[in-house]
Amino acid sequence: MQNLIVPLFNGIRRVTKPLWISSCLLGNHVRYDGGHKSHQGVKSLALIFSHYAICPELEMGLGVPRPSIAWYNNRLLENDSKLDHTSKAYSSAQSLVNTLEAPLGLIFKSKSPSCGLSDVAAKERGFFAETALTTYPDSPVVDENALSDIEATLAFALKLGASHKQLDDLQKAWSFLA
Ligand code: SF4
Repeated sequence: MQNLIVPLFNGIRRVTKPLWISSCLLGNHVRYDGGHKSHQGVKSLALIFSHYAICPELEMGLGVPRPSIAWYNNRLLENDSKLDHTSKAYSSAQSLVNTLEAPLGLIFKSKSPSCGLSDVAAKERGFFAETALTTYPDSPVVDENALSDIEATLAFALKLGASHKQLDDLQKAWSFLA
């Protein structure tokens, strides 16, 4: 279970639902090879909004490092051994989605077989993105590529209902992380 992380920049704290964020985008070393995919726009939003840092592959019991996985004919297999993780992945994702507080919005890592939105090889979505969006189809959702500059990041924050203070804080966070 991922802990709820409260924002640092929010002087007057608004009580809102949390963002659900792919953990590697926050700079956490959770990728299969022990790396991360730290992203300025995602981290800026995480300084403003409370959030969960979620790595669905860790949640399903895979460690770091771990064998890389990918979709083959709608089955989630280890690339080398072809061990099949499909059932475990979906049951773990559903149980996580059922446990977490409903999202204010969702930020997913692109191209991931677990978190990807629309560009996952041989499949429309990663298993966690698919499970989360089936449960919360109206939740605002982006991948990190949609947060590549401050204007786009501010626009997503507005969609999430950010206050004027939060928008000011977001610009400060962006500069702080540059
Ligand atoms: S893309 Fe998703 S599953 Fe892969 S390391 Fe990042 S958070 Fe974990």
